[in-house]
Amino acid sequence: MLKVGILGGGQLGRMLLQAAANYPVETFVMENDPDCPAAHLCHHFTKGDIRNFDDVYNFGRHLNALTIEIESVNEDALEKLENEGVKVYPRAQALRTIKNKIAQKQFYKEHEIPTSAFVITENQQALQLQEAFIPAVHKIAMGGYDGRGVQLIRTKEDLPLGFDAPAVLEKMVNIDKEIAMIIAINEKKETALYPPVDMVFDPHLNLLDYQLSPAMLPEKTLWKLEAIALKVVKELQSPGIFAVELFVDRNGDVFVNETAPRVHNSGHHTIEGNFSSQFDMLWRVMLGYPLGNTKHIMPSAIVNLLGAEGFSGTAQYEGLAEVLKMENIFVHIYGKKQTKPGRKMGHITILGKDRQDLVFSANKIKQTIKVRAL
Ligand code: ADP
Repeated sequence: MLKVGILGGGQLGRMLLQAAANYPVETFVMENDPDCPAAHLCHHFTKGDIRNFDDVYNFGRHLNALTIEIESVNEDALEKLENEGVKVYPRAQALRTIKNKIAQKQFYKEHEIPTSAFVITENQQALQLQEAFIPAVHKIAMGGYDGRGVQLIRTKEDLPLGFDAPAVLEKMVNIDKEIAMIIAINEKKETALYPPVDMVFDPHLNLLDYQLSPAMLPEKTLWKLEAIALKVVKELQSPGIFAVELFVDRNGDVFVNETAPRVHNSGHHTIEGNFSSQFDMLWRVMLGYPLGNTKHIMPSAIVNLLGAEGFSGTAQYEGLAEVLKMENIFVHIYGKKQTKPGRKMGHITILGKDRQDLVFSANKIKQTIKVRAL
């Protein structure tokens, strides 16, 4: 039986393990917190720091394959393991390109992949010189996620809010829709694309609010999205699963925002909504099986369960029983003991016949269930 390790033990790792239970594979997880969401679903848990070279190397060297569920993994250790014959999904060079927002933007530019125009700023002082470039969005090169490394710079008064560290300043796109394209690519370079996902954001929290799949788009826009997302994945030259996030602007032009080289929040609906889920698909890639069917069974929506404002402590899921009375909904609680404002505690998938149906249920769920603390 193949031995496969996951670096990181959050909800993505947990859902990967749920899918792994259907395959002949022995699973390993490394993460610092022995009580993390994935810790109790794997065959073997190792406490360790995914950013530390030795920890990653020692974890991976007895395994056949490795994957990641977060980008902050030490890619030098992954590269060494790759050279020693461990199959790594995604390849270390692809992770290195994506991990640094400057390298990622340069990659798009070099490969003529449409992305918003940008300049690189080394520090706050360099940012101050870019008045002519605003309105723009400042993104820290390393270490930002879930909106924390992103600052909107609408006017010159916002310039001091930018990061005093290497960062990308990119032109603000007049966004009509934010779309995610999930694509799997195997060792033979065969690809499988999921239907596009429409990500609808909460302007206050800057965290994903709800998402709908398949997104409603003119056919021409869909073709552009598919062609661009496929090019991103092919040029990265790595097997694995990728989530390409794109903007469609008010003219129908398409720009790549960013790419994740792993299973992704925007693909959770595929567990119930599509024939082969993004998690199932990654196992197919890693275990050398044929790619799965990405078609949707029914249109679907996701509502994220975020820790409510003003509550920190042992999580309580108020309204859960009420929500479970609804038809065609699937609850996923990630098993995090502690809640805090905005923390991703779970998600609910809704299957429905059309967009109107899905939005109605999504709003009902959002009003009914709250994650609070005792
Ligand atoms: P994160 O990786 O932290 O989620 P993103 O790069 O996805 O950061 O940016 C977060 C949000 O900021 C995006 O979903 C989008 O709404 C907004 N945003 C990012 N870049 C731009 C841009 N160039 N123009 C307009 N809005 C943007």
